[in-house]
Amino acid sequence: MQLSIDLTGREVLVTGSDQAARQAVRRYQAAGAVVSRLSSPQGGPFDGLPERPFLVAAVDDGQPGWKNFLDRCRAAGIPVAAEPAAGAPGQVTLVGGGPGTSELLTVAATKALRDADVVFYDRLAPYQELPSLTSAKLVDVGKKPGHHKVSQGDIEKLMVESAVAGNNVVRLKGGDPYVFGRGGEEVAACVAAGVKVRVISGVTSAISVPAAAGIPVTHREVSHMFTVVSGHAPLTAKEHEHLAGLGGTIVVLMGIGTLHQLAAGLSRAGMRPDMPMAVVERGYRPGQRTTIADLGTIASAAAGCSNPAVLVIGEVVRVAEANRGHAGAAADLDRLAASLLGS
Ligand code: SAH
Repeated sequence: MQLSIDLTGREVLVTGSDQAARQAVRRYQAAGAVVSRLSSPQGGPFDGLPERPFLVAAVDDGQPGWKNFLDRCRAAGIPVAAEPAAGAPGQVTLVGGGPGTSELLTVAATKALRDADVVFYDRLAPYQELPSLTSAKLVDVGKKPGHHKVSQGDIEKLMVESAVAGNNVVRLKGGDPYVFGRGGEEVAACVAAGVKVRVISGVTSAISVPAAAGIPVTHREVSHMFTVVSGHAPLTAKEHEHLAGLGGTIVVLMGIGTLHQLAAGLSRAGMRPDMPMAVVERGYRPGQRTTIADLGTIASAAAGCSNPAVLVIGEVVRVAEANRGHAGAAADLDRLAASLLGS
């Protein structure tokens, strides 16, 4: 159950050790409450407090003795809210943020964000919604292709230094941390520095962004495989041949800049010019747009397309088109995407 109460100017007593209560204190302060603290369960119920609190926020810090104190509060008619203890200090959690809407964050991601002291986030992660998910300090280390706001090495340095300084650090990345996300490098940097690190998988754009346009990456009797490719740099002739030869769905991330080379390379490798192709821009975000063409026409059809976008090449693109024609299930996907956007 979740209750929303306006705490502006209200006296809230946060109980629990300083370490365990540090984030609850920030959350209540951010909500406008006047926070007082009790870090150990000794003493009378409201000793030393200016007045009887409106609410007691009880952080579970594992100390014995709180139950007695909290029972006295309840007996006095003061509501007691249970609060989780802060995340362990001095560690890093790499969090997959999904394709850009907080609706597609995992439960583990939401919890890690709530428990963080500092969040280093990318521009592809659902960063606009962060203030409602965490009271952590938010640091934008977003990178645009070619415009590295903060270099990869500096991101790793910042993360490690922050954890060594005693923070519970979250590194929030777009999609899944291990899909073209340099997650492996960030884990290695933590390990090299002796900092505890864990990874929370996220919903990758490679699957979810096509889905936002109604495209299933596999479909029975249409495609029984999908290959996820980075378009960051042009592929070699051999790679084009292998891809064309597989006969399955091809999903390309970071592919807008090399779209011409890809279409030309796959054609040279023998792919049919009428192979359907889709460009899905800004999945799950305002301005989501799908451009459908075929291998022969995509380069001109997608001339106005920009990043972030996912390219899909394969017969599965037709499944989306066919399903859209029916009043049935897949036609609801656009409505789902719209509802996820809150429109
Ligand atoms: N780790 C990420 C991918 C990082 S590479 C993941 O698993 O999704 C960045 C690329 O992801 C972008 O260039 C784009 O191709 C794709 N991408 C991420 N979010 C997207 C979105 N909301 N809409 C369209 N493409 C997206």
